[in-house]
Amino acid sequence: MGYKKASFIENLAEKIGLIPDLHKEGYQEFDSDMRHFSDEKVAEMYENFPPPEKWNDWIEFDPKSWPKKKKTNYQIVPTTCFNCESACGLTAFIDKSSGEIKKFEGNPYHPGSRGRNCAKGPATINQVTDPDRILFPLKRKGKRGDGEWERISWDEALDTIADRIRKALKEDRHNEIAYHVGRPGHEGFMNWVLPSWGIDGHNSHTNICSSGARFGYNIWYGYDRPSPDHAEAKFILLISAHLESGHYFNPHAQRIIEGKMKGAKLATMDPRLSNTASMSDYWMPSYPGTEAAVLLAMALIILEENLYNRPYLENWTNWQEYLEAKHPDKEITFENYIEAMKEEYKEFTPEFAEKESGVKAEMIREIAVKIGEAGERFASHNWRSAGASNLGGWAVARCLHFLTVLTGAVGAKGGTSPNSWNKFKPEVPNPPKPQKKWNELHFPKEYPLAFFEMSQLLPHFLKEGRGKMDVYFSRVFNPVWTYPDGFTWMEMFMDETKFGLHAALTPIWSETAFFADLVLPMGLAPERHDINSYATHGGTWVAFRQPVLREAARRNGTPVQYTYEANPGEVWEEDEFWIELSWRIDPDGSMGIRKHFESPKRPGEKITIEEYYQYIFERIQGLPEAAKKEGLSEFEYMSKYGAFEIEKGESYKKNENLLSKEQLKGSVVDKKNGVIRKNGKDIGVMINGEAMVGFPTPSRKNEFYSQTMVDWNWPEYSTPTYIKSHIHNDVLDKSKGEYVLVPTFRLPTLIHSRSGNAKWLVEISNRNPIWMHPEDAAKWNFKTGDLVKMNTDIGYFIDKVWVTQSMKPGVVACSHHIGRWRREQDSDGNRWATNTVDIENTATGQWKMSTKRGIKPFESSDSDSKRIFWKDGGVHQNITHAVHPDPISGMHTWHQRVRIEKPGPDDNYGDIFVDTNKSHEVYKEWLAMARPAPGPDGLRRPLWFKRAFKPDESTYYIKDDKNNPEK
Ligand code: SF4
Repeated sequence: MGYKKASFIENLAEKIGLIPDLHKEGYQEFDSDMRHFSDEKVAEMYENFPPPEKWNDWIEFDPKSWPKKKKTNYQIVPTTCFNCESACGLTAFIDKSSGEIKKFEGNPYHPGSRGRNCAKGPATINQVTDPDRILFPLKRKGKRGDGEWERISWDEALDTIADRIRKALKEDRHNEIAYHVGRPGHEGFMNWVLPSWGIDGHNSHTNICSSGARFGYNIWYGYDRPSPDHAEAKFILLISAHLESGHYFNPHAQRIIEGKMKGAKLATMDPRLSNTASMSDYWMPSYPGTEAAVLLAMALIILEENLYNRPYLENWTNWQEYLEAKHPDKEITFENYIEAMKEEYKEFTPEFAEKESGVKAEMIREIAVKIGEAGERFASHNWRSAGASNLGGWAVARCLHFLTVLTGAVGAKGGTSPNSWNKFKPEVPNPPKPQKKWNELHFPKEYPLAFFEMSQLLPHFLKEGRGKMDVYFSRVFNPVWTYPDGFTWMEMFMDETKFGLHAALTPIWSETAFFADLVLPMGLAPERHDINSYATHGGTWVAFRQPVLREAARRNGTPVQYTYEANPGEVWEEDEFWIELSWRIDPDGSMGIRKHFESPKRPGEKITIEEYYQYIFERIQGLPEAAKKEGLSEFEYMSKYGAFEIEKGESYKKNENLLSKEQLKGSVVDKKNGVIRKNGKDIGVMINGEAMVGFPTPSRKNEFYSQTMVDWNWPEYSTPTYIKSHIHNDVLDKSKGEYVLVPTFRLPTLIHSRSGNAKWLVEISNRNPIWMHPEDAAKWNFKTGDLVKMNTDIGYFIDKVWVTQSMKPGVVACSHHIGRWRREQDSDGNRWATNTVDIENTATGQWKMSTKRGIKPFESSDSDSKRIFWKDGGVHQNITHAVHPDPISGMHTWHQRVRIEKPGPDDNYGDIFVDTNKSHEVYKEWLAMARPAPGPDGLRRPLWFKRAFKPDESTYYIKDDKNNPEK
């Protein structure tokens, strides 16, 4: 690293104070060639940020009034960003004279983001002041989807919903109530609410997002997400555009760069030269879906070059079980294990991987050796991208974790830990017992291993009469636009026999809210309470999202009772909404619901929001002491700082934690595999004579061999495997113009649905052309800006071409998050980003969408709305995709086989056509690939598998004779 010596320009800039003096003593400490920033040093870099003791009265001069000196007195209140899952810290600057929020900056006291944000953090101010935002609860007038609304009170909304839910519960129609979440970030709250109602009512967006990768990790070690320790790593391998848009985007990105500044090498596998790839030491532009072949080739090199970590493999993988099951003729010795693995992967030479992926064998070899040499300090991540895009995409995460296991980097410093080691779990007051219901509309028998709810299939299940939704909440969730096959969603939403009452809990108008019965405005980042905790590094933190105007009122001695009293209009928050609704469902407490929402301190009375959070905060390790030091309650402490660091960053190797004498009392050790059991549950494993906690798998180790896969009818995948994707080169007919479309990447400035009301973000990114390599463009005679017809399995969309060398030849790509629309009859919403479209239903199931108008300037309370210069709102591509559920993980596999065509004379930019009859046929084709439950013992799902909102164990057994004749 050559950073120590300042350049002439740096010197000058530092001298005149243009940038901080990065070269002053103490700012850089070199450990050989490694620069080290401690957390304290990072905090020092933010020395210009107002100190917390001045947060109630901070003066700044308005830069726009220069040269006049115009003073503004601010009150600064922390919250957390709501624009992606990372929940970075924000601070709201509230003008004390007007009581308005003027801007957002980072919160240096947030241990995950450490004062930094991506562009979407400060753009929160756009969302708050958006002239098109929904300010009051609305009820539809006329037919669903007609676009007519009337204002109602919160009381009316609550009573309407509560009456309907009460009736459904009393009639034992629990499975007709569901809560479907898009953007979560509400740690533990709904786990409190839904089981309290006794329903298996949680549905999520995870099967269109991350469940593929989750399955791949879980099958190895019982944890479903990685927590890479980027800042301490020597080698980082990313299978996604992680620096620009990956999971835990900003907190990870800053630590990846920190790792690089300390000497780590970075490799990225991505068919697109993303911003991440451009910052990498190695770019591997792999053909989509072949990533696992490359990873297995690396594994083979690590094995052949003896770069593996023998003690780790010996102690922490279930190699004996593997040899016994797959090589019964071999003696059970560690040497035979290594030899058997080499034999198993012998076809995965770097040359084979190059043939599959297009990544040069030489580069694969070089990276494999570097990973082996990094040893325990090998950090890696695979999130949506490959894991979310391919048939068998889950196998990419499984093969990536194989490298982590081979190097012994699992849970090591600079390695990759399980996510839950770095995540705080709240303890809620009056917790309910797990529900005694299993909702097959969410977890159907066909997908016993599906890692999350089969949410993408819900409209198809409804269409074929598997059930109905009597009360359906969509929560910051926009499936009509975000999901594949949005027209089938729209058809079902318009059918009142399928969706009885649809309440959209949303901060913005969306393509889904247009088809709701009630539109209930919920708060943005500075308008709601939530707690957040994410695995951003080798430590654990908790952060507090709070309605900042309510908190300011509390500090100023004018507290409010309900958050909507402090927010703009009557924008509310979900916490209070759910508490209130739960009381109204069970007004006299006879249904056993109300008791869960009573105050822990005032028996029989309704819990307040302060009481709920105080209950949680006073149980956080170390927080009571920190609060006491400042003479504050735990709630006041969190309201003041917005975050608390629970563990500083040494939470490594937790699998080696020893079981206490107390824990071991009454336990037995399985002689065969050393698993320690107590009261019928596995609690640990014997390793070299010591009783350790291990991993939550049947063997309590990393499972190189998975008996679970064998037991659940997938014996061909008992060990890490490369699965050829549905868009593998072998299945594309190039002579017909077939290509693979990569639709999964996002631009770092966009949020799924919610950048539509953030003008700064839309100004930066407002189109989604088809990325095409010059060689492919030449074949088709395309130039940048030419129209292209992209034919999918169920229809087509017309987009424009962008010719760029940043795309791998033979592959095309189109970013998501763009192509938002509204119809003529819809309320004004997201006008910074939406095209006005016409939707025609030309025959049963035949839908045509055409753009009537692009984006144009409009009059509003925001003078910027007259200055809109962009016209092109992009094209909605997801609606033309059929559902492709992976038969094992359940993940929607996003990559599309598309047939590229030159548009005809009647084709216009933005035209979309879809046949939902075809999409239902495609659904059935993919459904036929599934291998349904029951599994062993009549189970509908392996008991050791995680499940969101896990119901009572008794529900895991299929009881009807038709599906389980043996029972
Ligand atoms: S990464 Fe950006 S969008 Fe995500 S929470 Fe942080 S600031 Fe917000």
